[in-house]
Amino acid sequence: MSEQVVKRVVIAGGGTAGWVAAAALVKQLGPLIDITLVESDEIGTVGVGESTIPTSRNFHQLLGIDEQAFMRATQATFKLGISFENWGRIGDRYIHSFGENGKRSTWMAEFHHFWLEARAQGFGGSLSDYCFELQAADAGKFAKADGLDINYAYHLDATLYARFLRALAEPAGVKRVEGKIARVEQHAETGFITALVLESGVRVEGDLFVDCTGFRALLIEQTLETGFEDWTRYLGTNSAFAVQTRSTGPAIPLTRAIAHEAGWRWRIPLQHRVGNGIVYCSDFMSDEDARAKLLNDIEGEPLTEPRLIRYRTGARRKVWNKNCVALGLASGFIEPLESTSIHLVKVAVTRLIQSFPFGGCHEAAADRFNAQSRQEIEGIRDFITLHYHLTQRDDSPFWDRCRTMEIPDSLAQRLALFRGDAHAWQDGIDLFRVDSWVQVLLGQGLAPESHHRLAKMMNPSELRQALGALKANIDGAVARLPAHQDFLARYCPAGDA
Ligand code: FAD
Repeated sequence: MSEQVVKRVVIAGGGTAGWVAAAALVKQLGPLIDITLVESDEIGTVGVGESTIPTSRNFHQLLGIDEQAFMRATQATFKLGISFENWGRIGDRYIHSFGENGKRSTWMAEFHHFWLEARAQGFGGSLSDYCFELQAADAGKFAKADGLDINYAYHLDATLYARFLRALAEPAGVKRVEGKIARVEQHAETGFITALVLESGVRVEGDLFVDCTGFRALLIEQTLETGFEDWTRYLGTNSAFAVQTRSTGPAIPLTRAIAHEAGWRWRIPLQHRVGNGIVYCSDFMSDEDARAKLLNDIEGEPLTEPRLIRYRTGARRKVWNKNCVALGLASGFIEPLESTSIHLVKVAVTRLIQSFPFGGCHEAAADRFNAQSRQEIEGIRDFITLHYHLTQRDDSPFWDRCRTMEIPDSLAQRLALFRGDAHAWQDGIDLFRVDSWVQVLLGQGLAPESHHRLAKMMNPSELRQALGALKANIDGAVARLPAHQDFLARYCPAGDA
C-alpha cells in the first residue's frame, strides 16, 4: 500500500459515526494528528439510532465523559434490555436483558444447565427468575449505588448525541468544515484518496480518510468500488418509518420490539419523548400499509411526520480499503433489532486507534482490521437472524419465509448444539454472551432435548435450596430499587428539549 506518513485525518460525514470517530480520535491521538470533519447540513443525518448496548459505557469512559452530563444533554434514559413481543408466537413475550443468568460459579457447566436439571425434576420456575437486570427491567425499576452490580446501557436522542460529541471534539482540536462533497480526488497510480472537493470549491486534503457518509458510502463504495456482500437472504427487512411521539407515562428501562406480520416495531422511551419506528420487508408490506400501521399502533401524539428509510442488509467486502476506513452505515448495516450499529462504530474506531497507521497504510494492518470486523459483524448477523428464523409463527407469508429460509452454517451449528445438549458459547470476538444466546434461544421457544450431565452431580435438595435462595435475593434486591423514572428525575433531569 502506501509509505506515506499519516498525519492528516479527514472524516467525511457528521452523523453519529462521524462525531463518535472525531471525539475518540482527538481524545486519544489529539497531539499526534490533525483531524478535519466535513459534514453537510443540507444532506443531514439518518436521525435514528437511539438504543444502545452496555459497551457504550466503556467507550464513554475512554472519552472521559461524565455520565450525568451526557444523560442530561441527550435526554437519555437507562436500558436494561429488550422486550420481545410476538416473536416466537403471537402473544409471547420475553426479555433479552443485559444481566447474567444465575450467578457465576466454579462449576464447569453454565447456570442454565442447572436450571434445566431443576425443571426436569419438576421445580425451578422460569430462567428469568434468576436474572437481576431482567427482573428489574420487568418491574420498571433502576438504580445505581455503591455495591450494586447492574449492567445497563442507554436510550438517547441521536441528534443530541451527535451534538454532544461535537461539543467535546471541536474544543479539543477537531476542525469542522460545512459543505457538500462534490468530488473525491485519487492518486493517479495508487488510487489512494488525496482530497475531498466541496461544492464551494474548497479542497480538503488528507492522508487517511474515514468514510462516515452513511448509506451513500461516498468514499468506500462510490469512489473505491469496494463491493458489498448482501445478506438480504437471511435478514429480509429493507425499510423503516421512524416517528417521534409525546411520552404517555413513565419511561421504562426497556426497548420494546414488537413483531408484526411483516417485521417489527420499536418503542424507545427517552426523557422528553418516545422514539418509534416500524421495520418491514417491502415485498410483504406496502409503504402505505406500514405507515398506517405505525400511526395506528403507537401510543401518544406524533411530534414528527413519519420518515421513510430504505436500507440493504449486508457488509462492505472491506471496511479498510487503501487509505479509507469506513465506519457506521457506510461500512454495512444489520437492522436495528439488537441495537448493535453504534456499538460497531465504537469498536471499529477503538481498533483504528489501537492500530493507527502512523507510518503509512499497509496491507497487513488493513487485512487484520477487515478480518476482525468481518468476524464481528457475522456473529451479529447470526444472532439477529436467530430471532426471525426460530419462530413458530405461521400467520403470514413473511414469517413462513423466515421460518423455512436457509440460514448461515454457523447459526445452524449453534441451533443444533443447543437443541441437543443446551450447549451455547461465546467465541473470542463474539459480541453476545452465553447469557444472551440462552435467553433468546429459550425465549424464541427452543426447548433443549437434554443438558449437561454435570448438573446431576448437584444434590437435588441443594439445587432446590440454591435456586430458592438466588430467586429470593433477586426479588429482595428488585423490591428495594426505586422506579426507573424516579431515579432518572433525581440523577439526570434534562428538562424540556
Ligand atoms: P448518517 O447519520 O447518515 O450520517 C451521514 C453523514 O454524512 C451526515 O452528516 C451527512 O451530512 C454526511 N454526508 C453524506 N453525504 C455527504 C456529502 N456528499 N457531503 C458532505 N457530507 C455528506 N443503531 C443503534 O445502535 N441503535 C439503534 O437503535 C438503531 N436504530 C436504527 C434504526 C434504523 C431504521 C436505521 C436505519 C438505523 C438504526 N441504527 C441504530 C443505526 C444508526 O442509526 C447508525 O449506525 C448511526 O446513526 C450512524 O449513522 P452514520 O453516522 O453512519 O450515518
